[in-house]
Amino acid sequence: MQKLHKLFRPNATAQNRPIDATQLKNSAGGYVWEIDPWQRLDRFLTLGTESGSYYASEQTLTVENAENVMQLLNDEGVRVLERVTELSTQGRAYKNDPALFVLALAFTVSDVETRTAAQKALPLVARTGTHLFTFMEYVNSMRGWGRGLRRAVANWYDRKDLPDLSYQVSKYAQRNGWTHRDALRLAHPKTTDVQRDALYRYITGQADKLAEVQADFADYLNAVEAVKAETKVKTVAETIRRYNLPREVLPTEMLMHAEVWEALFERMPMTAMIRNLATMTRVGLLTSMSEVATTVAERLTDKERLRKARVHPIQILAALMTYARGQGAKGKGTWLPVQRVVDALDEAFYLSFETVVPTNKRIMLALDVSSSMTWGQVAGVPGLSPRVASAALALVTAASEPRHLFTAFSHQFLPLTISPRQRLDDVIKLMDDMPFGATDCALPMQYALEERLELDAFVILTDSETWFGKQHPVQALNDYRQRMGIFAKLVVVGMLGNRFSIADPKDAGMLDVIGFSTDTPSILADFIRDENRH
Ligand code: CA
Repeated sequence: MQKLHKLFRPNATAQNRPIDATQLKNSAGGYVWEIDPWQRLDRFLTLGTESGSYYASEQTLTVENAENVMQLLNDEGVRVLERVTELSTQGRAYKNDPALFVLALAFTVSDVETRTAAQKALPLVARTGTHLFTFMEYVNSMRGWGRGLRRAVANWYDRKDLPDLSYQVSKYAQRNGWTHRDALRLAHPKTTDVQRDALYRYITGQADKLAEVQADFADYLNAVEAVKAETKVKTVAETIRRYNLPREVLPTEMLMHAEVWEALFERMPMTAMIRNLATMTRVGLLTSMSEVATTVAERLTDKERLRKARVHPIQILAALMTYARGQGAKGKGTWLPVQRVVDALDEAFYLSFETVVPTNKRIMLALDVSSSMTWGQVAGVPGLSPRVASAALALVTAASEPRHLFTAFSHQFLPLTISPRQRLDDVIKLMDDMPFGATDCALPMQYALEERLELDAFVILTDSETWFGKQHPVQALNDYRQRMGIFAKLVVVGMLGNRFSIADPKDAGMLDVIGFSTDTPSILADFIRDENRH
């Protein structure tokens, strides 16, 4: 017998050939689909392009995304700005830079409505002095300082109340080559308010103008000026308590004292607390038996507090990875991590996502661990490769779904035993040690069929750079659906800011979601639960 059946199988097209005309070639030479331009915008805003990908440089990825954004801005500019504002203000993305970049691009569009929407969005998307300076640096490279742009920056200052503006001006004095003085000189905001006028003059270098007004903000700024020259630790701590000074305004040598950190800690914002855990441990304030450790753990595991402060899970993950190591990146010293804090960070990670209502469905969580997934950094966080990030993200679904199964694949199927009961830093280490390989995104479905596993959904976390297999993932899924008699769904969690997906947009049982948005696990669960998606 000629083994013809071994040479041809229906419903099996090699991944390096398209199955229909709607597919396009990915960077690895396999055929997949292109996600919708709005989905691309979301991926860019959420994942960014920092450090590029295995296949494309940071610049190439950025240019591709910027071209997509420009197209959308020209078609439906106002909608783009609504989306940017929504994602940014809700804190769905870890980094605000892509949102500020899109905003700067919007200022280059000639459409009046789009420009007006961009001017309105500026104070909402650029909430801090750092955000404003990042925006100014982006927009400065794209166009000249016309009237509309100057007015938008002036409006940023005019809209802030005086205490908030004083705080911004002292905390973020300069970033990315810009100072508030530069910004005010360009924007020239005009005011008839005596107090505001004094503050603007103070910013542009006339510090003596503050003496002419009597207001809390002036007292605050006078305290900021005074503390710069203060040498007594006790006085610095008292001034911090009295005026709620941020760390940024203190002389560097003061930041070596536990007493100073104790004063800062009392009203420290959540994101600052998370960022300074190592420092507070190093200076001896945060120790195993300390009350501070109890307060830190309480604050970290308070879901409401996390939500209000818009703490992003990636910030917690990054803090956990660094803090648990007990050693800074470059010459930042060592510390003895406090166990309670490490555990609280672990718990905080799960709490920082939007609440997930469990589906109780049978879900395979399949992680692409191929070589391309080891490249680069998700949202620019050192050590957070797409494959490490995908494991952390999948654990959130696993924590809420009792009937889950973890698997991993490259060009071969790999066993993966991780669990939300394990600490995240252990899981990260385990992921780092997984073998490399080529990519075949059809393997999870093929394996499930071979093993006759009854599943309601496949969740595949990948960059969709599949190319190795002899069958397309969608064909494998359809085989599975037919032969098992289960209409299993497919959720593709895009872990990279590219434009590819293995999900067929024509199939209502397939969905693309963005890796590492705070709402990723809840969107994923809603889709799997929805009985009408067939
Ligand atoms: Ca790959």
